[in-house]
Amino acid sequence: MDVLGKKERRERDVKGMLKRNWILIATISAVILGIALGVLVRDYTSLSQLEKQYFGFPGEILMRMLKLVILPLIVSSMITGVAALDSEVSGRIGLRAVVYYFSTTIIAVILGIALVTTIKPGVSQSADNIERAGSTPNVTTVDTLLDLVRNMFPENLVQACFQQYKTQRKEIEPLKTNTSTSNISTFPPFTTIISTVAQNLTKDYKIVGLYSDGINVLGLIVFCVTFGLVIGKMGERGRILLEFFDALNEATMRLVQIIMCYMPVGILFLIAAKIMEVDDWEIFRKMGLYMVTVLSGLAIHSIIFLPLIYFVFVRKNPFTFTLGMAQALLTALMISSSSATLPVTFRCAEENNRIDKRITRFVLPVGATINMDGTALYEAVASIFIAQLNNYDLDAGQIVTISITATVASIGAAGVPNAGLVTMVIVLTAVGLPASDVTLIVAVDWLLDRFRTMINVLGDAYGAGIVQKLSKRELERMDLISDVDAVNPFALETTLDDDECEKKSYVNGGFTIDKSDAISFTETSQF
Ligand code: ASP
Repeated sequence: MDVLGKKERRERDVKGMLKRNWILIATISAVILGIALGVLVRDYTSLSQLEKQYFGFPGEILMRMLKLVILPLIVSSMITGVAALDSEVSGRIGLRAVVYYFSTTIIAVILGIALVTTIKPGVSQSADNIERAGSTPNVTTVDTLLDLVRNMFPENLVQACFQQYKTQRKEIEPLKTNTSTSNISTFPPFTTIISTVAQNLTKDYKIVGLYSDGINVLGLIVFCVTFGLVIGKMGERGRILLEFFDALNEATMRLVQIIMCYMPVGILFLIAAKIMEVDDWEIFRKMGLYMVTVLSGLAIHSIIFLPLIYFVFVRKNPFTFTLGMAQALLTALMISSSSATLPVTFRCAEENNRIDKRITRFVLPVGATINMDGTALYEAVASIFIAQLNNYDLDAGQIVTISITATVASIGAAGVPNAGLVTMVIVLTAVGLPASDVTLIVAVDWLLDRFRTMINVLGDAYGAGIVQKLSKRELERMDLISDVDAVNPFALETTLDDDECEKKSYVNGGFTIDKSDAISFTETSQF
């Protein structure tokens, strides 16, 4: 009888586990099937380039769906996230997040430098033996940094939803000096001589402002943080806005749930199409040592350093946490974009790892935009690898320059595929390496990009877990304030949901937000 009971319980447990994790299980199966399908179709059929692209159509649809929800998700989560906390608490949480982002990025860069200078993947090779691919990105350090600041302050909010500013330099044609014989007796003024000589020696440029396609996430974040703070302070007048954005957030997360049901199908075709598309597998053998250096760095950072930091602060099993993020990590690995993975990151962090929504809403979108440990590590390794290929000895000062510029370049990189490759030009030019040598590593970048994106997402998730732990006292205090209405005349002790279940809520100004759920406004008139 008891044995039967045990068996039944085990069966129920397995069923429950399968039910809870069916999307993850289906996605893992889709990856395996996709790889097999890609290899089979590539080896046994001869599809044209066009047919291969048609083959990847279901995967393309998945990417479109994920990108579709980024905008409402970032806007609604940032605004409600900030409005839910008072400005002092959000300031402290923000500071903790930024300190975490910087420290882990620097650790990743140092790890990358240590590995590449020990393994020396570029010493035994020469740049001439590696086929170049793609073209050199047109990037200058100053303009990239200034564009970062420019994009923080979009001039048009609607435009920021689909375009971002990108400076282009245009060479100025030197002024033609007047050589007509009639003027020959007039000696040109001294300044004209100087400027003519200078023009002959150096090129001059003017800045042409251009907009390129893609959401200006940084601009939207800056706007939403400010907007959220203002709404939080408006009391009853801001209620309608907060309720609107909270409902928008909830609706978007429900959309994400629907998209995730389609995810296994999309991923199957995405990976199969990629396998069919790549025809030069030989390059992976040639670049083997370089790839091993990057991948081992990413592995050490994600299996040792990040979990260790998490354990030191949170005192919980970091690998259980990583397992909770599995669906997001797999998505990042498949689509190479931390921005497009953001919806899944949210779901995993909140539902599996139970991170407080007040933290995720605030910390995850910022992390997906500026915190890129994997990219920083990769940029440091790749630039020193290029130096080694060129037999270029780097001194200590240049190594420090690489650390700083790789950190900056990772912050400047957008959370989209291959963004790290573009901002790597900053690192190369900072130490005097030829920017055109980026083309040496383009051929293998699609694969490395997937792994570094995965680590970028993992770093953001651990950050949310750590910031939650460090902010525990403030969050509890806010919960308490909402329980003690005398402290805050706007506060309601508890809110009752439909099932008359008690839910704790917290207060900022006049708003209470269920820790797990929706925002509700506590009427002043009730007191
Ligand atoms: N693809 C990466 C990301 O989305 C950025 C990069 O290229 O390193 O996080």
